[in-house]
Amino acid sequence: MANTGHSAFPASSAHRLLACSGSYALGQAVDTGERRSTEFSAEGTLAHSVSEAALFAGSNPADLIGRTFHADGFEFTPDEDFSDNVQAYVDFVRGLMALGYIILLETRVSPMIHWSGLPPLGIDLFGTADCIAFHPQTGKLIIVDLKFGRGIAVEATGNPQLLYYAAGAFSRELLNYLLSQHGYAALPDGWTPSEIETIVVQPRAYHPDGPIRRASYSGQEVHDWARGPLYQGVERAINDNGTTFQPGEHCRFCPALPHCKAAEKFSLDAAKDAFKNVPAANVAVANGADPTSVPTNTDALAALPDTHISDKKLGELLDKLAIIKPYFAALETLAADRLRASSRPGMGWKLVPTRPRRVWADDEPKIVAALHNAGLAPGLYTETRLRSPAQTERLLGKKAFKALMDQLGLVTSTSGGVTLAPEGDPRTRVQQGRSAQEAFAPTLPSPNAD
Ligand code: SF4
Repeated sequence: MANTGHSAFPASSAHRLLACSGSYALGQAVDTGERRSTEFSAEGTLAHSVSEAALFAGSNPADLIGRTFHADGFEFTPDEDFSDNVQAYVDFVRGLMALGYIILLETRVSPMIHWSGLPPLGIDLFGTADCIAFHPQTGKLIIVDLKFGRGIAVEATGNPQLLYYAAGAFSRELLNYLLSQHGYAALPDGWTPSEIETIVVQPRAYHPDGPIRRASYSGQEVHDWARGPLYQGVERAINDNGTTFQPGEHCRFCPALPHCKAAEKFSLDAAKDAFKNVPAANVAVANGADPTSVPTNTDALAALPDTHISDKKLGELLDKLAIIKPYFAALETLAADRLRASSRPGMGWKLVPTRPRRVWADDEPKIVAALHNAGLAPGLYTETRLRSPAQTERLLGKKAFKALMDQLGLVTSTSGGVTLAPEGDPRTRVQQGRSAQEAFAPTLPSPNAD
Protein backbone atom coordinates (compact mmCIF):
# COMPACT_ATOMS: atom_id res chain seq x y z
CA MET A 1 0.00 0.00 0.00
CA ALA A 2 1.20 3.49 -0.84
CA ASN A 3 2.78 5.31 2.03
CA THR A 4 0.48 8.31 2.14
CA GLY A 5 0.71 11.02 4.75
CA HIS A 6 -1.91 9.42 6.96
CA SER A 7 -2.24 5.85 8.11
CA ALA A 8 -5.70 4.30 7.89
CA PHE A 9 -5.07 2.83 11.34
CA PRO A 10 -2.96 5.51 13.06
CA ALA A 11 -1.67 5.30 16.60
CA SER A 12 -3.83 8.22 17.71
CA SER A 13 -6.99 6.34 16.64
CA ALA A 14 -5.93 2.88 17.78
CA HIS A 15 -8.05 3.01 20.96
CA ARG A 16 -11.21 3.82 18.99
CA LEU A 17 -10.53 1.47 16.08
CA LEU A 18 -9.82 -1.43 18.42
CA ALA A 19 -12.99 -0.73 20.43
CA CYS A 20 -15.35 -0.14 17.48
CA SER A 21 -14.56 -2.20 14.36
CA GLY A 22 -17.25 -0.48 12.31
CA SER A 23 -15.60 2.90 12.72
CA TYR A 24 -12.81 1.83 10.36
CA ALA A 25 -15.03 1.53 7.27
CA LEU A 26 -17.41 4.33 8.28
CA GLY A 27 -14.51 6.68 9.02
CA GLN A 28 -13.09 6.01 5.57
CA ALA A 29 -16.49 6.45 3.91
CA VAL A 30 -16.93 9.95 5.34
CA ASP A 31 -13.28 10.93 4.94
CA THR A 32 -13.04 13.88 2.56
CA GLY A 33 -9.27 13.96 2.76
CA GLU A 34 -9.49 17.24 4.61
CA ARG A 35 -7.78 17.20 8.03
CA ARG A 36 -10.01 18.96 10.50
CA SER A 37 -8.45 20.84 13.39
CA THR A 38 -9.98 22.49 16.38
CA GLU A 39 -8.35 25.35 18.22
CA PHE A 40 -7.38 22.86 20.93
CA SER A 41 -5.79 20.38 18.53
CA ALA A 42 -4.02 23.22 16.71
CA GLU A 43 -2.62 24.47 20.01
CA GLY A 44 -1.37 20.94 20.66
CA THR A 45 0.31 20.90 17.24
CA LEU A 46 2.02 24.19 18.06
CA ALA A 47 3.12 22.86 21.46
CA HIS A 48 4.72 19.85 19.78
CA SER A 49 6.52 22.05 17.22
CA VAL A 50 7.75 24.44 19.89
CA SER A 51 9.02 21.62 22.10
CA GLU A 52 10.78 19.94 19.20
CA ALA A 53 12.43 23.22 18.17
CA ALA A 54 13.49 23.90 21.77
CA LEU A 55 15.00 20.42 22.14
CA PHE A 56 16.86 20.68 18.85
CA ALA A 57 18.08 24.23 19.35
CA GLY A 58 18.68 24.15 23.10
CA SER A 59 16.36 27.12 23.48
CA ASN A 60 13.38 27.60 25.79
CA PRO A 61 9.71 28.01 24.88
CA ALA A 62 9.64 31.23 26.92
CA ASP A 63 11.71 32.83 24.14
CA LEU A 64 8.59 32.73 21.99
CA ILE A 65 6.23 34.51 24.37
CA GLY A 66 4.39 37.33 22.66
CA ARG A 67 5.29 36.27 19.11
CA THR A 68 2.60 35.20 16.68
CA PHE A 69 2.42 31.69 15.22
CA HIS A 70 0.05 29.89 12.93
CA ALA A 71 -0.87 26.25 13.35
CA ASP A 72 -3.51 24.30 11.42
CA GLY A 73 -5.33 27.48 10.40
CA PHE A 74 -5.34 29.10 13.86
CA GLU A 75 -3.27 31.99 15.12
CA PHE A 76 -1.60 31.82 18.53
CA THR A 77 0.47 34.16 20.62
CA PRO A 78 2.20 31.95 23.20
CA ASP A 79 1.89 33.27 26.74
CA GLU A 80 3.54 32.20 29.97
CA ASP A 81 1.03 29.45 30.63
CA PHE A 82 1.70 27.95 27.21
CA SER A 83 5.48 28.23 27.52
CA ASP A 84 5.53 26.87 31.10
CA ASN A 85 3.62 23.78 30.07
CA VAL A 86 5.70 23.10 26.98
CA GLN A 87 8.77 23.68 29.13
CA ALA A 88 7.61 20.92 31.50
CA TYR A 89 7.85 18.42 28.62
CA VAL A 90 11.12 19.89 27.35
CA ASP A 91 12.60 19.67 30.85
CA PHE A 92 11.47 16.06 31.17
CA VAL A 93 13.16 15.04 27.91
CA ARG A 94 16.29 17.00 28.82
CA GLY A 95 16.26 15.13 32.12
CA LEU A 96 16.34 11.82 30.23
CA MET A 97 19.26 13.06 28.16
CA ALA A 98 21.07 14.05 31.34
CA LEU A 99 20.59 10.46 32.54
CA GLY A 100 22.39 9.16 29.47
CA TYR A 101 19.47 8.47 27.13
CA ILE A 102 19.90 9.22 23.44
CA ILE A 103 16.75 10.43 21.76
CA LEU A 104 14.82 10.62 18.53
CA LEU A 105 12.11 13.26 18.21
CA GLU A 106 8.96 13.15 16.09
CA THR A 107 9.85 9.82 14.52
CA ARG A 108 7.59 7.74 12.33
CA VAL A 109 7.32 4.17 13.57
CA SER A 110 5.29 1.12 12.61
CA PRO A 111 4.18 -1.71 14.91
CA MET A 112 3.88 -3.95 11.84
CA ILE A 113 7.55 -4.88 12.29
CA HIS A 114 6.22 -7.46 14.79
CA TRP A 115 3.92 -9.11 12.25
CA SER A 116 6.45 -11.29 10.46
CA GLY A 117 4.95 -14.67 9.58
CA LEU A 118 1.35 -13.41 9.97
CA PRO A 119 -0.90 -13.14 6.91
CA PRO A 120 -0.57 -9.62 5.42
CA LEU A 121 -3.60 -7.40 6.03
CA GLY A 122 -3.01 -5.00 3.13
CA ILE A 123 -2.84 -1.95 5.35
CA ASP A 124 -0.03 0.36 6.37
CA LEU A 125 0.15 1.16 10.08
CA PHE A 126 2.34 4.01 11.24
CA GLY A 127 2.35 6.86 13.68
CA THR A 128 4.73 9.58 14.85
CA ALA A 129 6.23 9.14 18.30
CA ASP A 130 6.99 12.41 20.08
CA CYS A 131 10.14 11.15 21.76
CA ILE A 132 11.94 7.80 21.68
CA ALA A 133 14.67 7.56 24.29
CA PHE A 134 17.14 4.70 24.48
CA HIS A 135 19.81 4.05 27.07
CA PRO A 136 22.84 2.45 25.39
CA GLN A 137 24.17 1.02 28.64
CA THR A 138 21.02 -0.35 30.28
CA GLY A 139 19.11 -1.19 27.08
CA LYS A 140 15.96 0.49 28.40
CA LEU A 141 13.61 2.00 25.83
CA ILE A 142 11.27 4.88 26.71
CA ILE A 143 8.44 6.36 24.70
CA VAL A 144 7.37 9.83 25.81
CA ASP A 145 4.11 11.30 24.59
CA LEU A 146 3.24 14.96 25.13
CA LYS A 147 -0.45 15.55 25.73
CA PHE A 148 -1.32 19.22 25.80
CA GLY A 149 -5.05 18.94 26.52
CA ARG A 150 -6.58 20.12 29.75
CA GLY A 151 -9.86 18.22 29.62
CA ILE A 152 -9.29 14.49 29.68
CA ALA A 153 -6.41 13.12 31.72
CA VAL A 154 -4.82 10.38 29.62
CA GLU A 155 -3.78 7.17 31.35
CA ALA A 156 -0.43 5.59 30.58
CA THR A 157 -1.28 2.03 31.59
CA GLY A 158 -2.59 -0.12 28.75
CA ASN A 159 -2.86 2.90 26.45
CA PRO A 160 -3.06 1.48 22.87
CA GLN A 161 -1.59 4.63 21.32
CA LEU A 162 1.52 4.39 23.49
CA LEU A 163 1.79 0.62 23.01
CA TYR A 164 1.58 1.21 19.24
CA TYR A 165 4.54 3.63 19.44
CA ALA A 166 6.40 1.29 21.79
CA ALA A 167 6.00 -1.62 19.38
CA GLY A 168 7.20 0.56 16.50
CA ALA A 169 10.18 1.88 18.45
CA PHE A 170 11.15 -1.64 19.54
CA SER A 171 13.04 -1.90 16.30
CA ARG A 172 16.66 -2.98 16.12
CA GLU A 173 17.05 -1.15 12.80
CA LEU A 174 15.74 2.14 14.20
CA LEU A 175 17.76 1.89 17.39
CA ASN A 176 20.90 0.91 15.50
CA TYR A 177 20.50 4.07 13.46
CA LEU A 178 20.17 6.09 16.68
CA LEU A 179 23.18 4.33 18.23
CA SER A 180 25.29 4.94 15.13
CA GLN A 181 24.47 8.66 15.29
CA HIS A 182 26.03 8.75 18.75
CA GLY A 183 29.02 6.51 18.00
CA TYR A 184 27.75 3.36 19.76
CA ALA A 185 28.04 -0.20 18.46
CA ALA A 186 25.03 -1.86 16.87
CA LEU A 187 22.71 -4.12 18.85
CA PRO A 188 23.28 -7.88 18.38
CA ASP A 189 20.85 -10.20 16.59
CA GLY A 190 17.98 -11.27 18.80
CA TRP A 191 18.42 -8.23 21.03
CA THR A 192 15.47 -7.27 23.19
CA PRO A 193 15.11 -4.20 25.44
CA SER A 194 15.62 -4.67 29.17
CA GLU A 195 12.41 -2.74 29.76
CA ILE A 196 10.01 -0.59 27.76
CA GLU A 197 8.46 2.33 29.55
CA THR A 198 5.66 4.42 28.07
CA ILE A 199 5.25 7.86 29.59
CA VAL A 200 2.52 10.46 29.26
CA VAL A 201 3.57 14.04 29.99
CA GLN A 202 0.36 16.02 30.35
CA PRO A 203 1.16 19.19 32.25
CA ARG A 204 -2.24 20.89 31.95
CA ALA A 205 -4.71 18.22 33.10
CA TYR A 206 -5.12 17.25 36.73
CA HIS A 207 -4.38 13.64 37.62
CA PRO A 208 -3.70 12.35 41.12
CA ASP A 209 -0.53 10.64 39.87
CA GLY A 210 0.75 14.00 38.67
CA PRO A 211 1.46 15.35 35.20
CA ILE A 212 3.89 12.54 34.34
CA ARG A 213 2.48 9.01 34.29
CA ARG A 214 4.26 5.80 33.40
CA ALA A 215 3.61 2.21 32.43
CA SER A 216 6.26 -0.46 32.18
CA TYR A 217 6.37 -3.53 29.92
CA SER A 218 8.83 -6.19 28.94
CA GLY A 219 9.87 -6.37 25.31
CA GLN A 220 7.97 -9.67 25.04
CA GLU A 221 4.73 -8.06 26.30
CA VAL A 222 4.91 -5.30 23.70
CA HIS A 223 5.77 -7.81 20.95
CA ASP A 224 2.84 -10.01 22.00
CA TRP A 225 0.46 -7.03 22.09
CA ALA A 226 1.44 -6.06 18.54
CA ARG A 227 0.96 -9.60 17.21
CA GLY A 228 -2.14 -10.33 19.30
CA PRO A 229 -4.65 -7.61 20.26
CA LEU A 230 -3.38 -5.12 17.69
CA TYR A 231 -3.12 -7.49 14.73
CA GLN A 232 -6.48 -9.11 15.55
CA GLY A 233 -8.13 -5.71 16.04
CA VAL A 234 -6.87 -4.47 12.67
CA GLU A 235 -8.03 -7.68 11.01
CA ARG A 236 -11.45 -7.36 12.66
CA ALA A 237 -11.79 -3.72 11.60
CA ILE A 238 -10.81 -4.40 7.99
CA ASN A 239 -13.16 -7.36 7.62
CA ASP A 240 -16.06 -5.78 9.48
CA ASN A 241 -17.06 -3.57 6.52
CA GLY A 242 -18.89 -1.18 8.80
CA THR A 243 -21.32 -3.66 10.32
CA THR A 244 -20.35 -3.78 14.01
CA PHE A 245 -20.54 -0.58 15.99
CA GLN A 246 -19.79 -0.13 19.62
CA PRO A 247 -20.62 3.35 20.94
CA GLY A 248 -18.51 4.41 23.91
CA GLU A 249 -16.33 7.22 25.19
CA HIS A 250 -14.02 6.53 22.22
CA CYS A 251 -16.72 8.09 19.96
CA ARG A 252 -15.57 11.51 21.13
CA PHE A 253 -12.89 11.86 18.43
CA CYS A 254 -14.46 9.61 15.78
CA PRO A 255 -14.58 11.32 12.36
CA ALA A 256 -17.79 9.40 11.61
CA LEU A 257 -19.59 10.67 14.69
CA PRO A 258 -22.25 12.91 13.13
CA HIS A 259 -22.93 10.29 10.43
CA CYS A 260 -22.97 7.24 12.66
CA LYS A 261 -26.40 5.65 13.09
CA ALA A 262 -25.23 3.70 16.15
CA ALA A 263 -24.09 6.87 17.91
CA GLU A 264 -27.28 8.64 16.82
CA LYS A 265 -29.49 5.85 18.15
CA PHE A 266 -27.50 5.66 21.35
CA SER A 267 -27.73 9.43 21.87
CA LEU A 268 -31.42 9.68 21.07
CA ASP A 269 -32.31 6.67 23.24
CA ALA A 270 -30.28 8.17 26.08
CA ALA A 271 -31.91 11.57 25.60
CA LYS A 272 -35.37 9.95 25.66
CA ASP A 273 -34.37 8.06 28.75
CA ALA A 274 -33.23 11.31 30.39
CA PHE A 275 -36.43 13.11 29.55
CA LYS A 276 -38.47 10.23 30.98
CA ASN A 277 -36.73 11.04 34.23
CA VAL A 278 -37.05 14.79 34.36
CA PRO A 279 -36.85 15.29 38.12
CA ALA A 280 -39.41 18.02 38.64
CA ALA A 281 -42.21 16.33 36.72
CA ASN A 282 -41.65 13.02 38.47
CA VAL A 283 -41.60 14.66 41.85
CA ALA A 284 -44.76 16.57 41.27
CA VAL A 285 -46.52 13.28 40.55
CA ALA A 286 -44.76 11.44 43.39
CA ASN A 287 -45.94 14.05 45.86
CA GLY A 288 -49.46 13.75 44.62
CA ALA A 289 -49.34 17.39 43.62
CA ASP A 290 -50.59 19.00 40.47
CA PRO A 291 -48.25 17.61 37.77
CA THR A 292 -48.15 21.02 36.11
CA SER A 293 -46.96 22.66 39.31
CA VAL A 294 -43.19 22.33 39.18
CA PRO A 295 -41.05 23.44 42.14
CA THR A 296 -38.48 25.90 40.94
CA ASN A 297 -36.40 27.03 43.89
CA THR A 298 -33.32 25.10 44.87
CA ASP A 299 -34.47 24.43 48.44
CA ALA A 300 -37.59 22.78 47.14
CA LEU A 301 -35.59 20.73 44.66
CA ALA A 302 -33.06 19.73 47.32
CA ALA A 303 -35.89 18.55 49.57
CA LEU A 304 -37.30 16.24 46.92
CA PRO A 305 -37.03 12.50 47.54
CA ASP A 306 -34.31 10.64 45.65
CA THR A 307 -36.87 8.23 44.29
CA HIS A 308 -37.92 10.53 41.44
CA ILE A 309 -34.71 9.58 39.66
CA SER A 310 -32.63 6.89 41.28
CA ASP A 311 -28.91 7.34 41.83
CA LYS A 312 -28.37 4.31 39.61
CA LYS A 313 -30.33 5.89 36.77
CA LEU A 314 -28.58 9.22 37.26
CA GLY A 315 -25.20 7.47 37.04
CA GLU A 316 -26.24 5.62 33.89
CA LEU A 317 -27.31 8.84 32.25
CA LEU A 318 -24.02 10.52 33.19
CA ASP A 319 -22.14 7.58 31.64
CA LYS A 320 -24.02 8.17 28.42
CA LEU A 321 -23.18 11.87 28.35
CA ALA A 322 -19.67 10.89 27.24
CA ILE A 323 -21.24 9.94 23.92
CA ILE A 324 -24.26 12.24 23.76
CA LYS A 325 -22.37 15.50 24.19
CA PRO A 326 -19.77 14.84 21.46
CA TYR A 327 -22.52 13.52 19.17
CA PHE A 328 -24.57 16.71 19.39
CA ALA A 329 -21.42 18.86 19.18
CA ALA A 330 -20.51 16.97 15.99
CA LEU A 331 -23.98 17.73 14.58
CA GLU A 332 -23.36 21.43 15.19
CA THR A 333 -19.98 21.23 13.46
CA LEU A 334 -21.51 19.42 10.49
CA ALA A 335 -24.25 22.06 10.20
CA ALA A 336 -21.70 24.89 10.40
CA ASP A 337 -19.56 23.21 7.71
CA ARG A 338 -22.51 22.91 5.37
CA LEU A 339 -23.61 26.49 5.97
CA ARG A 340 -20.07 27.71 5.41
CA ALA A 341 -20.08 26.02 2.01
CA SER A 342 -23.51 27.33 0.92
CA SER A 343 -26.77 28.62 2.30
CA ARG A 344 -29.14 25.81 3.22
CA PRO A 345 -32.70 27.11 3.25
CA GLY A 346 -34.01 23.68 4.19
CA MET A 347 -32.09 23.72 7.44
CA GLY A 348 -33.68 26.84 8.89
CA TRP A 349 -30.36 27.88 10.43
CA LYS A 350 -27.66 30.33 9.35
CA LEU A 351 -24.19 31.47 10.40
CA VAL A 352 -23.90 34.84 12.14
CA PRO A 353 -20.82 36.63 13.51
CA THR A 354 -19.89 35.97 17.12
CA ARG A 355 -19.82 38.91 19.51
CA PRO A 356 -17.02 41.25 18.35
CA ARG A 357 -14.07 41.74 20.66
CA ARG A 358 -12.20 45.05 20.59
CA VAL A 359 -8.50 44.81 19.83
CA TRP A 360 -5.79 47.39 19.28
CA ALA A 361 -5.62 48.36 15.63
CA ASP A 362 -1.81 48.36 15.31
CA ASP A 363 1.36 46.72 16.64
CA GLU A 364 2.06 47.04 20.36
CA PRO A 365 5.03 49.50 20.07
CA LYS A 366 2.98 51.82 17.88
CA ILE A 367 -0.02 51.74 20.20
CA VAL A 368 2.17 52.34 23.27
CA ALA A 369 3.90 55.27 21.55
CA ALA A 370 0.58 56.76 20.44
CA LEU A 371 -0.94 56.52 23.93
CA HIS A 372 2.24 57.91 25.48
CA ASN A 373 2.23 60.83 23.03
CA ALA A 374 -1.41 61.42 23.86
CA GLY A 375 -0.31 62.08 27.45
CA LEU A 376 -1.77 58.96 29.09
CA ALA A 377 -0.02 57.63 32.19
CA PRO A 378 1.56 54.19 31.41
CA GLY A 379 -0.48 52.58 34.18
CA LEU A 380 -3.64 53.25 32.16
CA TYR A 381 -2.61 51.04 29.29
CA THR A 382 0.09 48.68 30.57
CA GLU A 383 0.16 46.37 33.55
CA THR A 384 2.72 44.63 35.73
CA ARG A 385 1.64 41.18 36.85
CA LEU A 386 2.93 38.86 39.50
CA ARG A 387 4.50 35.81 37.88
CA SER A 388 3.11 32.38 38.79
CA PRO A 389 5.02 30.28 41.37
CA ALA A 390 6.13 27.93 38.56
CA GLN A 391 7.51 30.82 36.51
CA THR A 392 9.35 32.31 39.47
CA GLU A 393 10.73 28.89 40.32
CA ARG A 394 12.03 28.49 36.79
CA LEU A 395 13.80 31.83 36.91
CA LEU A 396 15.14 31.30 40.41
CA GLY A 397 15.97 27.61 40.19
CA LYS A 398 14.19 24.79 42.00
CA LYS A 399 16.50 24.65 45.02
CA ALA A 400 16.59 28.38 45.70
CA PHE A 401 12.85 28.66 45.19
CA LYS A 402 12.11 25.79 47.58
CA ALA A 403 14.42 27.19 50.24
CA LEU A 404 12.82 30.62 49.99
CA MET A 405 9.27 29.32 50.01
CA ASP A 406 10.00 27.00 52.94
CA GLN A 407 11.14 30.10 54.77
CA LEU A 408 8.40 32.50 53.65
CA GLY A 409 5.48 30.13 53.10
CA LEU A 410 4.11 32.22 50.24
CA VAL A 411 2.77 29.39 48.09
CA THR A 412 -0.21 27.17 48.56
CA SER A 413 -1.99 24.68 46.29
CA THR A 414 -5.74 24.58 45.99
CA SER A 415 -8.30 23.00 43.72
CA GLY A 416 -10.75 25.56 42.38
CA GLY A 417 -13.89 23.43 42.64
CA VAL A 418 -15.32 19.98 42.25
CA THR A 419 -16.25 18.05 39.15
CA LEU A 420 -18.14 14.85 38.43
CA ALA A 421 -16.09 11.75 37.73
CA PRO A 422 -17.04 8.08 37.32
CA GLU A 423 -16.28 5.66 40.19
CA GLY A 424 -13.32 4.23 38.29
CA ASP A 425 -11.61 7.62 38.09
CA PRO A 426 -8.32 7.51 40.02
CA ARG A 427 -8.88 10.82 41.85
CA THR A 428 -9.81 10.81 45.53
CA ARG A 429 -13.46 11.35 46.36
CA VAL A 430 -14.44 14.71 47.91
CA GLN A 431 -16.09 13.92 51.22
CA GLN A 432 -19.69 14.94 51.51
CA GLY A 433 -20.09 18.51 52.69
CA ARG A 434 -16.45 19.47 52.10
CA SER A 435 -15.25 21.81 49.44
CA ALA A 436 -12.49 20.78 47.07
CA GLN A 437 -10.13 23.16 48.89
CA GLU A 438 -10.91 21.62 52.28
CA ALA A 439 -10.62 18.13 50.93
CA PHE A 440 -7.48 18.42 48.85
CA ALA A 441 -5.43 21.42 49.88
CA PRO A 442 -3.23 19.44 52.29
CA THR A 443 -2.68 16.54 49.90
CA LEU A 444 -2.02 18.28 46.62
CA PRO A 445 1.56 18.15 45.42
CA SER A 446 3.64 21.00 46.67
CA PRO A 447 4.07 23.78 44.15
CA ASN A 448 7.74 23.14 43.73
CA ALA A 449 6.89 19.67 42.41
CA ASP A 450 4.87 20.96 39.45
S1 SF4 B 1 -19.26 7.22 16.37
FE1 SF4 B 1 -18.75 5.65 17.89
S2 SF4 B 1 -20.05 3.92 17.38
FE2 SF4 B 1 -20.03 5.27 15.59
S3 SF4 B 1 -18.38 4.50 14.31
FE3 SF4 B 1 -17.50 6.09 15.58
S4 SF4 B 1 -16.66 4.99 17.36
FE4 SF4 B 1 -18.10 3.60 16.36
